[in-house]
This record gives sequence, structure tokens and C-alpha cells, in this order.
Amino acid sequence: MNGSSLLVFTDLDGSLLDHHSYSWAPAAHWLEKLRRAQVPLIINSSKTRAEVSALSLELGICDAPCIVENGAAILLPPRWQQPGEGDMITLGADIAHIRHALAQLRDQGFSFEGFGDVSPQRVAEWTGLPLAQAQLAWQREATEPLFWHEDEQRLDAFTQALAQHQLTTTRGGRFVHVMAAQADKGRALLWLKKRFAQLSGNECRCVALGDGANDIPMLNAAEMPVLIRNDASLVQLPAELETRCYLTQQAGPSGWNEGLDHWLGSA
Ligand SMILES: [Mg+2]
Repeated sequence: MNGSSLLVFTDLDGSLLDHHSYSWAPAAHWLEKLRRAQVPLIINSSKTRAEVSALSLELGICDAPCIVENGAAILLPPRWQQPGEGDMITLGADIAHIRHALAQLRDQGFSFEGFGDVSPQRVAEWTGLPLAQAQLAWQREATEPLFWHEDEQRLDAFTQALAQHQLTTTRGGRFVHVMAAQADKGRALLWLKKRFAQLSGNECRCVALGDGANDIPMLNAAEMPVLIRNDASLVQLPAELETRCYLTQQAGPSGWNEGLDHWLGSA
């Protein structure tokens, strides 16, 4: 394994973390191997910066970049920054832009409540999360989850109106997520791959591991994609990706190990 030319991107829930226990223990062997080979392990999650920061510390990967909020924001440690750059890049829109556009749409008659309109207590009620966790999920930087008050037809009209602000919507559980139209987990991977080449002068190859529909752009952008089995709902891959993507037998962190064995096992 040549650590200087390899990046590993991973989804969290159902991938590196067990769906039920949130444990990553079965992946400990590969985490150590990657660390020893100095391969950056890059979280690529729908969670916020506040939600992933404790896990980053626990995994000992604070010196690697991190992709949060479904690809809309990229956190850059000092070694990955260009001069004068901050520690976060947003792809297309930050939360101030999104909330400004949402205020205009509300004035046009659309009815919804965003995380920015309510308290962390209300987010805890909506999500069923304990308050401490709801507080972390509430701290948005580049995507806004909405509680939608109208029907599907009005949601289509709302999505069309957002397009004029270069924004779009995606469904995620009970929320409608508003984010930049040109942001997803795959574009964020490609952004970091390009940054790696700029900084190191080397091209790199990427492993990507995920289990959900929102991981497909990330798997598509990687040379070594791994779809981790998710018994609840195995996602349908586009035909081209299906032929080259490794599908694991096992779920969660055990499947995560299996995917790295497949692509890097003999390296
Ligand atoms: Mg997942």
C-alpha cells in the first residue's frame, strides 16, 4: 500500500459505524493499518461538523480533511489549506446564502420551518435525539433541513423556485434538505483529490465506502468503490457503477473491513 498516493473516503452510519450500536470496533484493524501507512481517512457524512468532531478525535484522524453535510462543506486541516484560506470550504452555498433565499421564498407564500427558525429543543422533538445531540445537529454550516408544511406538488414548485438561487432539495427521512445544487459527496471527493494533487504534485487513487443512496455520487467518483451491504434497503446502483463496485457480504464495519481487504488487501 503506497500511502502517499491513496485517499480513503468513508460514510459513517451503516458503513464505518454499526447501524445500531454506532461501534467501529470491527474496523479497528484496518484503521490502524491506514494510520501506519499514513493514508488519510476522510469522513464523508451527512452529519454536521459539530456532530463528527468527537468521532474524529476518537479515531485519531483530526489531521485529515473531513466532508460534512452531504458534501456541501469540506473541513481542511492546516496542511491541506492554501495560503489565506480558512478551515472550511463550502461547495456553492453557505448557510447564510441558503437562509437568505429561504426567507424570500417564505415571503412568496411557501410554508416550512427550518432548523434556523427553531431551537435545539424543537430539533430534539422532531428527531427524537437527546438534547445534547440535537444541539450538534442544529449547528448547520451549508445545508438546511426543513420541516415541510405543504403537499408534494407545492414541494416541486418550491424546488423550482430554489433553482433560481442555485439551490436544490433532497429528501432525507422526515426532512427536506436544502443545499447548493452543485454539491454532493462525489463532488467533494473530487475537490479533495484535486487539492491533494496541487499540494503534493502526485495524482492519487481513491477508495470510497458507503451504504446509502446519497453515497452513490461518492462511489461513482472513486476508482475503488465499495457498497456496504445494508439489509434494510440495498441501494440500486447505476449499471456502469455496478460492474466495477465491490458489494460486501457483511454489513457495517465488518463489511467496511471486507471492502478494504478486497481493494487493498494484498497491497
Ligand atoms: Mg450510511
